[in-house]
Amino acid sequence: MTQKIVAGNWKMNLNYEEAKVLLKELINNKDKFNPEVQLVICPPMPYLSSFSEVLNGQSWIHLGSQNNFFVDKGAYTGEVSPSQLKSLGVTFGIVGHSERRDNFNEDYSVISKKVKALLDHDIRPIFCCGEQLQVRDSNVYKEFIMKQITDSLFKLKADEISKMVIAYEPIWAIGTGQTATAEQAQEIHTLIRSRIASQYDEKTANAVAIIYGGSCNGENANELFAQNDIDGGLIGGASLDLDSFLTIANAF
Ligand code: PEP
Repeated sequence: MTQKIVAGNWKMNLNYEEAKVLLKELINNKDKFNPEVQLVICPPMPYLSSFSEVLNGQSWIHLGSQNNFFVDKGAYTGEVSPSQLKSLGVTFGIVGHSERRDNFNEDYSVISKKVKALLDHDIRPIFCCGEQLQVRDSNVYKEFIMKQITDSLFKLKADEISKMVIAYEPIWAIGTGQTATAEQAQEIHTLIRSRIASQYDEKTANAVAIIYGGSCNGENANELFAQNDIDGGLIGGASLDLDSFLTIANAF
């Protein structure tokens, strides 16, 4: 285990008032969180500005984005650039989530540009990869996941990829309550790390944080995080509840 990172992906949930209540609850319970864990919250985009102000001086919670464009500025109605995110104090950014790949047709070329744009602004990408159920069942899941990674990430330089967070998120486990077993997750995490080591080097591979996502909760986080190559979690549903998020974050 190289790092300990627990990131909450709030997705398109909570209205502004509800989101502010959850942020307050997190802040009020600071003392209960293990200080060795890097906590990240990725609220809906419109809340980033005020969250950044509230969190000013609260560097124990990192702000993350759920999406970004890859151009710095210009006539791109509705898009948000990495430099704008940076100006709000965003330090992590989710890229390539399966919901964006499926609903917004994001392919590897868009995803790799988004990753690079975040890195260029010193924002750590949380790059999501993972297979559908039929891919897992057809037994080519390792090749499938490695292709997602090589296509989108392996043009990066060693000092760039070493800043990455890679989230292994089997799609069949996202929001389904069907978590990957610790062995299934570790198998992929160790594969990812060893492929980075052979493409780059051991030091680079160990610097990359590889976290697990997919129905991670207070009951299963402990066993998952105990695996050698699991550096934490990307948490969807369970990040919307203070007690669940706290239990997961303290599960190392
Ligand atoms: C996610 O969508 O990134 C995720 C991990 O969701 P959940 O925890 O709800 O399965």
